[in-house]
Amino acid sequence: MSDQTFDVAIVGAGLVGSSLALALRGTGLSVALIEARAPQPLPADASWDNRIYAISPSSVNFLARLGVWAELPAERMARIEAMAIYGDDGHSRLDFSAYEAGLAQLAYIVESRLLQAALWRALQTANDVTLICPAECAALHIEADGAHLSLRDGRQIAAKLIVAADGGRSWVREQSGIEAHDKDYRQLGVVANFTTELPHQGIAYQWFGRDGVLAYLPLPGNRISIVWSLQEDVAQDLLQLPPAELCERVAQASGMRLGKLELMTLAAAFPLHLITPDHLIKPRIALIGDAAHQVHPLAGQGVNLGFADAKALAAVLAGRGPRDCGDTLLLRRFERARCEEILAMQLVTDGLHGLFNQPQPVLGWARNAGLALTNRFTWVKRQLVKHALGNI
Ligand SMILES: Cc1cc2nc3c(=O)[nH]c(=O)nc-3n(C[C@H](O)[C@H](O)[C@H](O)COP(=O)(O)OP(=O)(O)OC[C@H]3O[C@@H](n4cnc5c(N)ncnc54)[C@H](O)[C@@H]3O)c2cc1C
Repeated sequence: MSDQTFDVAIVGAGLVGSSLALALRGTGLSVALIEARAPQPLPADASWDNRIYAISPSSVNFLARLGVWAELPAERMARIEAMAIYGDDGHSRLDFSAYEAGLAQLAYIVESRLLQAALWRALQTANDVTLICPAECAALHIEADGAHLSLRDGRQIAAKLIVAADGGRSWVREQSGIEAHDKDYRQLGVVANFTTELPHQGIAYQWFGRDGVLAYLPLPGNRISIVWSLQEDVAQDLLQLPPAELCERVAQASGMRLGKLELMTLAAAFPLHLITPDHLIKPRIALIGDAAHQVHPLAGQGVNLGFADAKALAAVLAGRGPRDCGDTLLLRRFERARCEEILAMQLVTDGLHGLFNQPQPVLGWARNAGLALTNRFTWVKRQLVKHALGNI
C-alpha cells in the first residue's frame, strides 16, 4: 500500500531537481520532490558563498521563465563580459568577448546558496509540487505500471516516473541498475573568494597549466572567486596554508594578473570525477543533472547541462498527450534530445583535461598552437561561444 501517489517523484532537490519541479507546474502532473537534507538558512552576516556558478544565457532564460531569476539580488551577481584563456607556455592566449559575440554578457556569476534559496522560495508557492524534506530513500521497486519508493521513515511513495536528480553518486541510478563509468581525475577543485588589488573589469581568466587549471571568476566590486583544479596532494597542501601564503600562491599562479589578493572566505575542495551512465533512461526512470553526467568543472558547465536536462524533460512531459508520463517511448525523446550536448561536453572537458595533463613536448606545442590559432579565427570563436552558451 502506498501512502501517497504522484505522477512524477523527483529524488534530489538540488539546483537541477528543484528547477524541474518548478518547470512541471501547469503541466497537469502531480509532483513529489524528495530531498535528504533540510534547507540551510542563509547566513545572517551576508558573507559570500565560495560555491559559485557561471550561469549561461540559456540557463538565465530558463530560470527567468521559472520566475526565479528576477528574485536573485542583482548586487550579488557579476557579469562575465569577456574571457581570457592562457596556455602553459606563458604567451598563447584565447580571448572571447560578449561584444564580439553580439551579447550583453557571456554569463553571470551567481552564488550557489542564493540560487538554491530562490528556487526553494518559488517551490513554497507551487501548489502542484509536494516537497518531502528531509527524507531519505530506503528502497526502490520498479514495476510495469509504476515505481514505488520506500522512505526510511516508513512512508511509501508511488509514481509513474521517478527522476534521479540526486547528484553524481546517484542512489536512484544505482538502485535502478543503470551502470555508470566513473573516471576519478585524482584532482580536487579548490574554491575560495578573494578581494583583488586591481579591478577585474568583468573578465574571467583561466590558466591551463601542467599541474591544473586555475580560473578567476568576477564577483561584484574588486572581488573574485577561484576554482583551481589540482592533483589531490597539491590541493591538500594548498588547503593547509595560512591565508597570507594561500593568497600569495594563487596570485603568483596567475602571474599577478589582478595584483595582490586578500582571502574573503575559507578555501574548500571538491573531488573531481567524470561520471558517464550507460543510459539516461530506463522504464519509469529518467536521470538529470549530475546523476546523468558529472563533468570536470574546467568549462563551468555542469549545472548548465543540468538545467538544460530539466528544461528538455519538462518539455517532453508537457507534450505527453494521452501517454503515461513514465512511458519508455516518451522518455526516449528526452534521451535523444540530450545525448548529443552531453557527449560533446564530456568530450571537450575530458579532452582538454587530458591535453594539458600530458608531459610530451609535441602535445605542449599542439595545445598552445591550438589556442593561438583559434584566437585568430573569429568564425571558430563564434562557434565555440555559441556552443558554450547553449541555445539562448
Ligand atoms: C569546484 C566545482 C565548480 C563548479 N563550477 C560550476 C560552474 O561554474 N558552472 C556550472 O554550470 N557548474 C559548475 N559545477 C558543477 C555543478 O556543481 C554541478 O553540476 C551541480 O551542482 C549539479 O547539481 P545537481 O542538482 O544535479 O546535483 P547536486 O547539487 O549534487 O544535488 C543533489 C541533491 O540530491 C540530494 N540527494 C542525494 N541523494 C539523495 C537521496 N538518496 N534521497 C534524497 N535526496 C538525495 C542531495 O542532498 C542534493 O541536494 C562545478 C562543480 C565543482 C565541483
